[in-house]
Amino acid sequence: TVVTRFAPSPTGFLHIGGARTALYNWLYAKHTGGKFLLRIEDTDRERSTPEAVEAIFDGLNWLGLTADEEPTFQFARRDRHAEVAHELIKAGKAYYCYCSQEELQEMREKARAEGRPMKYDGTWRDRDASEAPAGVKPVVRLKAPQEGDAVISDQVQGDVRVANDQLDDYVILRGDGTPTYMLSVVVDDHDMGITHVIRGDDHLTNAFRQKALYDAMGWDVPTFAHIPLIHGPDGAKLSKRHGALGVDAYRDEMGFLPEAVNNYLLRLGWGHGDEEIISQDQAIEWFDIKDVGKGAARFDFAKLTNLNGVYLRQADDTRLANDIAPLIAKQIGVDAIDAAQKEILIKGMSGLKERAKTLIELANSSAFYVTDGVTSFNEKAQSLIDSAPEGLFAELAKELDALENWTEENVDASVRNIAEKLDQKLGKVAQPLRAVLTGSNSSPGIFEVMIVLGKSQTLKRIRKFDA
Ligand code: GLU
Repeated sequence: TVVTRFAPSPTGFLHIGGARTALYNWLYAKHTGGKFLLRIEDTDRERSTPEAVEAIFDGLNWLGLTADEEPTFQFARRDRHAEVAHELIKAGKAYYCYCSQEELQEMREKARAEGRPMKYDGTWRDRDASEAPAGVKPVVRLKAPQEGDAVISDQVQGDVRVANDQLDDYVILRGDGTPTYMLSVVVDDHDMGITHVIRGDDHLTNAFRQKALYDAMGWDVPTFAHIPLIHGPDGAKLSKRHGALGVDAYRDEMGFLPEAVNNYLLRLGWGHGDEEIISQDQAIEWFDIKDVGKGAARFDFAKLTNLNGVYLRQADDTRLANDIAPLIAKQIGVDAIDAAQKEILIKGMSGLKERAKTLIELANSSAFYVTDGVTSFNEKAQSLIDSAPEGLFAELAKELDALENWTEENVDASVRNIAEKLDQKLGKVAQPLRAVLTGSNSSPGIFEVMIVLGKSQTLKRIRKFDA
């Protein structure tokens, strides 16, 4: 069965590109009935932080991309990695290299002078350890193949070929006995039973080196799929401004729904005909790693925002009210909104969500429902109030106060009556009314707003202006 993994380095956020890699791995595992695993590549002790590990868990949980087993922490497995290096030495597939820093520096300079990348020259490949200089802590190098080509049949990139003489005997164990990244990745992928390595195409060259290590150990090489990186809308490397942010920013600062982010990331590099809205079940059914495109995907905030609007309109009202509750509490300056306020939000949600594309917009346009009175009026609302027909608010207060049954039908009829009485078009009445009730010139339908607010809150807001 298929086993995939996501292997982030916990050195910062869970980047949006990383989230897409995780999604593709997760989907491919679900599509094939396999397993999706998580490995935290925390071997860079200086740059790895517990906060970053938390951010990865948090982001993956939010997106629903949870692993099928407990995560593996790479650093904790360093003894196992070293053990493999020693096995390779015993088998004659790796060797100690005693080159000094000066000798390596010379090789580097020679390569630079000849205009080619640095390649270890094999000094210690066939030398006997008895010739070792005293006092040098050797590194361990893999005896990589020197002749022929290495070919990787990449599921996305196709057959990719590199001449083996381009690859050198790279270090697998450092002088201090610690494993290098290249060794750790291969040992972990093997021990975790990974069958498919799906990751960014910045790792494609590593794949050739890794293949040599699998071959040396006599292990099956996993199937590789190197997916193109995400670029900005201008085709350049994704910048902060263009979306190179942590997924937490997509949630907290931009107010996107996880299902919209998943749908967007899914289609960023993969597609199913012209389908734009793809549910998770459909994605699981349709996704195949072979169908991921080779070209760089371009990140487009406007598309993501529109897609989010679609998901917002489909989302459950109670869930949305819960999602925006903390945002609204912050906006109106309370610790948390209470149950009654929550109820009002839920009641108003069907009208509110039609008009918003993000949770931030939704919260901003909803806060007026839960405050006692309106706390601020935008400029257009203020001018609608200032230019309202003479006596409008007094008339509204009187007529509405007299209503026995506060139903949408009845308030609708009352407002129309008043318009007639004052010899005004409905808009001349409804717009200033909207302004005093919501503090804004745009809101859900005015009669709906009056019902959601309730009679006493509606009258209270009108009476502020009836003098
Ligand atoms: N830890 C690597 C990264 O974050 C991923 C390595 C891999 O997927 O093989 O770029």
